[in-house]
Amino acid sequence: MFDALALKREFPSLADTSLHYLDSAATAQMPDVVLSTLRRFELEARANVHEVVHKRARAATEAYQEARARVARFLNASSAEEIVFTYGATSSINLLAYAWGELLKAGDEILLSVLEHHSNLIPWQELAKRRGIILRFLPMTDDGRLNLDRLETDLTNRCRLVALTHCSNVTGALTDVPRLVPAAHAAGAKIMLDGAQRAPHGPVDLRKLDVDFYVFSGHKTYGPTGIGVLWGRKELLDQMPPFMTGGQMVETVTLTSTTFRPPPRRFEAGTPPIAQAIGLGAALNWMQGYDWRAIQAHEERLTQRLIAGLTRFAGVRVLGPLDTRDRRGVVSFSIEGFSADDICRFLDERGIALRGGYHCAQPLVRAFGVDGVARASLAPYTIDADVEVLLQGVEDLLGSRYQGASHRHEKPTRAR
Ligand code: PMP
Repeated sequence: MFDALALKREFPSLADTSLHYLDSAATAQMPDVVLSTLRRFELEARANVHEVVHKRARAATEAYQEARARVARFLNASSAEEIVFTYGATSSINLLAYAWGELLKAGDEILLSVLEHHSNLIPWQELAKRRGIILRFLPMTDDGRLNLDRLETDLTNRCRLVALTHCSNVTGALTDVPRLVPAAHAAGAKIMLDGAQRAPHGPVDLRKLDVDFYVFSGHKTYGPTGIGVLWGRKELLDQMPPFMTGGQMVETVTLTSTTFRPPPRRFEAGTPPIAQAIGLGAALNWMQGYDWRAIQAHEERLTQRLIAGLTRFAGVRVLGPLDTRDRRGVVSFSIEGFSADDICRFLDERGIALRGGYHCAQPLVRAFGVDGVARASLAPYTIDADVEVLLQGVEDLLGSRYQGASHRHEKPTRAR
């Protein structure tokens, strides 16, 4: 039986029991083992990597390479050479759009969806402008799942890439990868999944997914900020020119020309985020020590409780699937008469940390016909009390005479 309270005790930043941290989809907390790994690196092995002249540099290089191997294990990738360290999911997708995008020609198509985070939209918009690429968009269902009904029509023979979220950061819906992949490959397209919201919910099996590129962020997978991953099939990474250039990624340099190292180092120009990569390795290793089926059952139970509690209130709308089939614990909601900002501020006073607004997915939130939503996101350390306190807070907000920022001008001013 999974013990969320015991797991939560591994997170020193959550020691304050008056904090109900329900914003892990934005940034998750770090367990002690990651903090101590970072401290040990800074104290005992802090040096630059890929230099073998002194012991510290060797220790740093070994730890950095071990982190790469740990990421490969977490993703069940065939080789650590397929793991490129970046600065986050955004940085990974930009790298791909620039480097792999160089291989595209005018008239080629990229298939995205209305569910995408701006990070998996704007880099492709910019590529489209630079190279005359055509972007197409899959729609969503009324309850915020990716709608694949039109997949075969939208996958023309000019489609070179299908780039989709693996799990929506607004609706929590998981993409039906087994339905998507054979169709995309049959059309001759490559597939990139944005795993920023899926990777925090357990190890990923790339061999089973059978996609071509995968990205995620360290700070959402219980690791440090400033680190991310781009995984690509070796033969695809091999074809890609570098994105950023500079030190560390070269073989021979003359004043007029340079030859580049093979991947992954071709894509890691300059001093990489060394401590962050090592911290991420520790975080993923920590994740792999847990039974994620049990954690998922725990998160699913809390998600069910949250959705059932929210939908019981008149005026509260949950944007996303109301069942927990193929969805993760990201629950966005709006409340009639209150802006997302009002909701988050009111609840913040009770120690409930939510995020409000467009969640870097303006087209998606607008498609729901709202101006912004409040979002509660769950993690393995979320406990029943967090959900109960949130539901109580929403009830109090509804029952209160609190008018919120958007109505503040109507409030009588207090005499001084
Ligand atoms: N994709 C999705 C689905 C996300 O939720 C996020 C983070 N909000 C990103 C991409 C971008 O991640 P980062 O900000 O860490 O680069």
